[in-house]
Amino acid sequence: MTGRILVVDDVATNRIVMKVKLAAACYNVDQAGSGAEALRLAVTGRPDLILLDVLMPDMSGLEACRRLKADPETADIPVILVTALADRASKMAGLEAGADDFLTKPVDEGTLLARGRSLLRARDTVRELRERGESSIGLGFAEAMAGYECKEHPGRIWLVAPSSKGAVVWKTELDDRVRGDVRVVPREAALTEIGVEESESVDVFVISADLAHRNEGLRLLSDLHSRPNTRHAATLMVLPEGDSERAAIALDLGASDILYEPVDTQELAIRIRAQLGRKRQADRLRASLRAGLELAARDSLTGLHNRRYALYQLERMIARPGRGVAVMMLDLDHFKAINDTHGHVAGDEVLRLVSRRLRAQLRSGDLVARIGGEEFLVALPDSDRAAALDCAERLRRAVSETPFDIGGGGSVTVTLSVGLALSPSGSAENPAALIDRADRALYGSKADGRDQVTLASLPAA
Ligand code: GH3
Ligand code: MG
Ligand code: MG
Repeated sequence: MTGRILVVDDVATNRIVMKVKLAAACYNVDQAGSGAEALRLAVTGRPDLILLDVLMPDMSGLEACRRLKADPETADIPVILVTALADRASKMAGLEAGADDFLTKPVDEGTLLARGRSLLRARDTVRELRERGESSIGLGFAEAMAGYECKEHPGRIWLVAPSSKGAVVWKTELDDRVRGDVRVVPREAALTEIGVEESESVDVFVISADLAHRNEGLRLLSDLHSRPNTRHAATLMVLPEGDSERAAIALDLGASDILYEPVDTQELAIRIRAQLGRKRQADRLRASLRAGLELAARDSLTGLHNRRYALYQLERMIARPGRGVAVMMLDLDHFKAINDTHGHVAGDEVLRLVSRRLRAQLRSGDLVARIGGEEFLVALPDSDRAAALDCAERLRRAVSETPFDIGGGGSVTVTLSVGLALSPSGSAENPAALIDRADRALYGSKADGRDQVTLASLPAA
């Protein structure tokens, strides 16, 4: 895998040593000699990963990290803090500052590269979900997401250790530090139970690399990542002190994070919180993507947009500047009789053909949706009274004036009633009220004998 890594260190020799290591692994390397330069290059160079020295004269790495994570433009870039200090306090401070990991010099190359790969994978997941959202429902995705409410349950954390005694100690300490439901899961249960429904909503698994047998925890890790119910859970692998070789293996097997024994529960708590945050972000994206896809769904009979999508688009259309929006409610006349006389299949065919005729009369930016059985909604952006009336009349004629071919040599004539309501630019009327006026105008058309267009009166000021 290739990527761009920004190496930040005030000592040129350190930067060069790191650059040589990374270049050997086919990474492109940018260098910054100060915190300020790092912040600049993070924006202009769009690195995939930042290796950040902690001790620098102009700005500490912790401060630089805090600023990177606070800026939406750079918040997604994974940061690994690198320092000569091995003390616990600066390690905690680094993680609290939002760093994704913390490595001490001399940096072990294997761990660094595996860590980089795992962080890039996590970031790519989020990026891909965003892009899929954007391509499926257009530029409205970010907006839709901002307003999207996702059920947020407190985090569920399962601990799997070789002896439940050890895990119970972790749990006791975690209960005060992590907001969520922490459970010690016996090894045997983990192996058999995990993957069944109950584990579906587990957010974070903390697993010892070795359970009853060496590498049993690593096998459990691969297993969790391959099962649909637990595929999206975060996994924190606990390894014997200094076992950087298996740390790299665990990361490549999909572990979200690594921790060494003896487990420092404060560090464990911080790492769990970070994983919970990331998992929530991805869950939210996935859920809103699902909602977005549903939103963009089309009606299967006619291929037109559905009601939900129409309402969503109409709201956006009204908010845009322009001459105003025209909304029409259209309803086929005595359609029940078509079904009764020619059968439901013929009725369906007429609905398909009507949809095609309506679409053919409209501009590409106009909206047409099937919002009920034989009811349609049309919305014209940037449209004034004359243009809207003209269009409504065109739509009515397109349906009413030419009979529909229903196969077997038969044809039927169907007429169309239309109710039209105008929303002049700057109107404060909400979409529901606008549709309601169009609907009432439609009833006016029906009451006056059908096959006609009725213009709704403007709302009372
Ligand atoms: P009006 O002029 O008052 O609108 O009379 P109408 O018969 O069109 O109105 P009504 O609402 O009483 O009946 C609508 C009919 O549309 C009922 C149903 O048989 C038919 N319909 C609704 N959805 C479908 C569909 O998907 N396929 C077919 N073939 N018919 C449908
Ligand atoms: Mg009807
Ligand atoms: Mg109807």
